[in-house]
Amino acid sequence: KADKRSTLLEINKLAANYFYYQLHQSQGKIGYDYFRKRELSDDTIRRFGLGFANKTSNDLYQYLRSKGYADEILRDSGLVTMEERGTYDKFWNRVMFPIMDVNNRVIGFGGRVMGDGTPKYLNSPETLIFDKSRNLYGLNYARTSREKYMLACEGYMDVIAMHQAGFTNAVASLGTAFTTQHAVLLKRYTDTVILTYDSDGAGVKAALRAIPILKEVGISTRVLNLKPYKDPDEFIKNMGADAFRERIANAQNSFLFEIDVLKREYDLEDPEQKTKFYNATARKLLEFNEALERDNYTRAVAQAQFIPYEDLRRLVNRLGNQL
Ligand code: ATP
Ligand code: MN
Ligand code: MN
Ligand code: MN
Repeated sequence: KADKRSTLLEINKLAANYFYYQLHQSQGKIGYDYFRKRELSDDTIRRFGLGFANKTSNDLYQYLRSKGYADEILRDSGLVTMEERGTYDKFWNRVMFPIMDVNNRVIGFGGRVMGDGTPKYLNSPETLIFDKSRNLYGLNYARTSREKYMLACEGYMDVIAMHQAGFTNAVASLGTAFTTQHAVLLKRYTDTVILTYDSDGAGVKAALRAIPILKEVGISTRVLNLKPYKDPDEFIKNMGADAFRERIANAQNSFLFEIDVLKREYDLEDPEQKTKFYNATARKLLEFNEALERDNYTRAVAQAQFIPYEDLRRLVNRLGNQL
């Protein structure tokens, strides 16, 4: 089985080299142009080993067969699909993002359509060497960053755009929700994470799910505001690295972020709703068991939400006594 793992690693490495080579051939020019249009430099393309999967139906399969690999192991690599009609490459006419583990070994791929086709991204299936819930894209580079915190985002292009802009401590959980294993993995390298998820509804939901998972392993979390842009890639493209650095400095404490999101559920013009929001806020403050910490947060929330501190403190104590 250890043998099989190393064979799969070999195959993935060959595939990565193959895609990278194709990107620089005439067939791959549309892929190269796509990356350049998205403002990636040649240096970035090389560093992340970006590539191109041709429009032909089984180029990669033929290539790997010519290297002596049998059908069975190629199927298990997730790079080809075998059907009755024949064998096809899984990735076809897409720009390719090799996914590396912390030891810089290629364990899988993401592939993006160059236009508006679906699915936008196609990822390698889970294999003997690729466990999505235990790997983070970009961590092979981010782990050597000297920053004390890490930036966690949603996508390949976000990680790459941040690294290219000098934020080499960015990682992404790919095509899967952020897991406890991801948090444990990050904890080896940092105890502070700044979430830079997309500013849309899905990104906010993903951030709300990640916060308690990070807290559980003892990582303190802040949330970066990307507005009015949708994701880190777009923010940096439009505003530049200095503005992004400023947003990092102003990233919000995750608890205060949670309260801000909670607030959106209420119509604060209506006194009844407003009271409900205050009660919900006070109940959430009761999550802090330690008196001093609870008080610090009560003060911070009171200030951020323009609630008189004494009133909020009394409400928290009263609801606490009822428990
Ligand atoms: P781009 O900037 O290239 O449009 P994005 O990263 O902004 O990409 P999102 O739609 O925000 O794209 O998706 C975030 C991430 O979720 C992607 O980078 C990819 O890892 C994953 N993802 C997106 N669409 C799919 C899909 N159809 N299947 C699997 N994973 C996906
Ligand atoms: Mn999205
Ligand atoms: Mn994007
Ligand atoms: Mn996005």
